[in-house]
Amino acid sequence: MAQKKKPLSIYIHIPFCARKCLYCDFASGPGDANQIAYYMRVLQKEIRSFSAISTLYQVQTVFFGGGTPSFVAPHYIEQLLQLLRSQFDLAADAEISLEANPGTLDEEKLNTYRRAGVNRLSLGLQSVHEEDLKCLGRIHSYEDFLYGYRIARRAGFRHINVDLMSGLPRQSLASWQESLAKVADLEPEHISAYSLIVEEGTPFYEQYGEGLGRLALPGEELDREMYHFTKEFLASRGYQRYEISNYAKPGYACRHNMTYWTLGDFLGFGQAAASYLERRRFSNPEGIEEYWQAARTSYQRFRQTPISSEKEQMEEYMFLGLRTARGVSREDFKKRFGKDFPPRYDERLLDFYRQGLMVQEKGRITLTDRGIDVSNVILAQFLLEE
Ligand code: SF4
Repeated sequence: MAQKKKPLSIYIHIPFCARKCLYCDFASGPGDANQIAYYMRVLQKEIRSFSAISTLYQVQTVFFGGGTPSFVAPHYIEQLLQLLRSQFDLAADAEISLEANPGTLDEEKLNTYRRAGVNRLSLGLQSVHEEDLKCLGRIHSYEDFLYGYRIARRAGFRHINVDLMSGLPRQSLASWQESLAKVADLEPEHISAYSLIVEEGTPFYEQYGEGLGRLALPGEELDREMYHFTKEFLASRGYQRYEISNYAKPGYACRHNMTYWTLGDFLGFGQAAASYLERRRFSNPEGIEEYWQAARTSYQRFRQTPISSEKEQMEEYMFLGLRTARGVSREDFKKRFGKDFPPRYDERLLDFYRQGLMVQEKGRITLTDRGIDVSNVILAQFLLEE
């Protein structure tokens, strides 16, 4: 009898953008036509180098992220999908997502993506207010986004995500509410609502990271008010929160991201791409030239990476699972590790139930709304001692 193939998700990093946004610390930046062409050749080689294991898996989701995948000519996306189909068993109903910057879309690109099999589009809007978009250094206007959204629907995209960002400099609750309402009126299937994190090394950090600049950012209380409003408002519009920052209409949770949060197998190709495969966690170099050098040996590096320790796997199971509205369960844990929660987890859980920060219902353990407000502190309590 043929052996059942294991599910796999594939992430492909396209690191090029028209211009660097002022808050961005992702592995991304501008690139000319020669650099893009060279990068694509390296990427294809890296994908081919995994052919030895490709027959063991069926690919359930593909995610083109970046950077700005919609910045490069669409035939590159088409070629990469053709290559994935020839190298891997890509499920007929695979979720194939592509991140797009609204300032880079046209009908031809969108039609090419559809023909190539892309069936989920993620649009990085961030805010409906021009002053916010300028402040963030985005290349697009709200009008550009509306145009991109319209032509994406016309091209046949039935699963669209819109990214929004709260906690922006000088943002008020009313302006955040307006962004949410305008986006919800369009009825995308999925909305991601992240809080801005001012990362060191970005122009934003120099301006808002320290000293008086910080005063321009909404305080903790307003940030939480925005978060609670988001959940209630989006629920009233038919969106369920299924992860701390992600909301979807029923049946439209992002399957690719769920792979990350449920410790499923995924392979990342491209600069800075991370993978988790056969309980080994490994990443490509952050720098583009370092990646060019290392891509030739990605498969060997995967083989040589030690399997994560049981302690690391248990911690990750809790950290990642508790981010989701489904939470974690004793039964899943037992199935995965062949044993019960360690005593430290039981102690912590009891303590958090008592404080109203976590609940256990129908065998599943989740953070309450109050627990989400302090999730960083709670999750750190699930670290295990050596
Ligand atoms: S478009 Fe995205 S990846 Fe590119 S610079 Fe802006 S935030 Fe970073």
